[in-house]
Amino acid sequence: MHANNVGKRKQRKRATVLGSPVNCLTMAEAVSLACDAWRGNQVFHIVTANAEMIYTGTRDRELEKIIQAAELVTADGAGVVLASRLVGCPAPERVAGYDLMIECLKEAARQQVPVYLLGAHPDVLFQALCRATDCYPGLRVVGSQHGYFQAKEEERILADIQRIRPALLLVAMGAPRQEKWIYRHKKALPPCTVMGVGGSFDVLAGKSRRAPLWMQKAGLEWFYRILKEPGRLLRARVLPVFMFYVLLQALGVKRFPGEQSSRG
Ligand code: UDP
Repeated sequence: MHANNVGKRKQRKRATVLGSPVNCLTMAEAVSLACDAWRGNQVFHIVTANAEMIYTGTRDRELEKIIQAAELVTADGAGVVLASRLVGCPAPERVAGYDLMIECLKEAARQQVPVYLLGAHPDVLFQALCRATDCYPGLRVVGSQHGYFQAKEEERILADIQRIRPALLLVAMGAPRQEKWIYRHKKALPPCTVMGVGGSFDVLAGKSRRAPLWMQKAGLEWFYRILKEPGRLLRARVLPVFMFYVLLQALGVKRFPGEQSSRG
């Protein structure tokens, strides 16, 4: 079952957006792959890519390499879904990091598999852990570590994760820090499904809120985040630049690595 599904993933349609692969799949398919993978014998790295991350990948070779090496890359934001359509390989829907995390937590509770939470401020992590175990009865959070550790603590944290062997490892240290951390330690991690979930523990803890559903559906979640955290405006300036480059790619004016596989 697991080997089959991972095999199917390799044949699954992938858009190439500015050189980054984006798997064209629904939330249900992504959850199914994530859950199959935690019964496997490999580290299965899921990247939930938004426009900012993909654009940053065109400037940051390490990040680009990480996205290309990930076992699954989902279209986290409305901008990436639109981009996938424009380049001719449409992702059927958004598979946002927070939603995917929640669906995986539900499944982890149902299947009683061990979960490890890594990241966020200590109080946020504690609140998130309490909320998760309250909301999803049966959930086994077998280990946790806040995200403000020092380099010298890394060895201890990795040893902890290796000893506990979680099936699902959620890393909430913000993009691209979390993706780089996962990639750097991929060989040292036990077989598991691992994903970077950005500020999702803050949302789970009730410290920050997601956009209202109508804004999420209208593809305006990024706008809501800027309204709530004006400091994000600087980061959001890459969104029009991202769309501009996507248009250049779609019109064939500019080529990016890996474009050939876009329509395959
Ligand atoms: N964070 C962390 N360690 C750090 C820096 C940040 O654990 O060294 C946490 C931070 O407390 C927050 C999350 O990473 O919980 C970043 O959230 P943000 O919304 O900025 O991430 P994004 O969703 O934009 O990637």
